[in-house]
Amino acid sequence: MAADCLFCRIVSGEIPAARIAENEHCIAFRDINPQAPTHFLVIPRQHVASLDQVTSAELAGQVLLMAAALARSEGIAPSGYRVVLNTNADGGQTVYHLHAHVLGGRALHWPPG
Ligand code: 5GP
Ligand code: ZN
Repeated sequence: MAADCLFCRIVSGEIPAARIAENEHCIAFRDINPQAPTHFLVIPRQHVASLDQVTSAELAGQVLLMAAALARSEGIAPSGYRVVLNTNADGGQTVYHLHAHVLGGRALHWPPG
């Protein structure tokens, strides 16, 4: 747990979130400002600031496995979805606790803005 990290406070339950799944490695919850009909975040319980700081294949894999499993259970897998890891300033990262955005339920544009 990192001091003053918003997502660590969501992991601990200190700040509420609309949780949709959790296991020993990760939790998933709905984004407070959704950019698509389905938009949730998957985060590791362990504090890691960004993808740039990831050293564990296990941690990275657990985040992606939960993203894919929930895309299926949320019903967006057949039509398609996008997993986004905004990383550092130019990547648009605003919360410095690793999180995978999962977006779906509409056609998503490419290239991103
Ligand atoms: P980033 O810009 O760092 O990739 O994404 C951070 C995401 O976290 C944004 O999509 C933002 O809407 C979401 N977010 C920020 N604060 C909260 C919060 O308190 N609760 C939830 N559920 N999502 C949040
Ligand atoms: Zn954190």
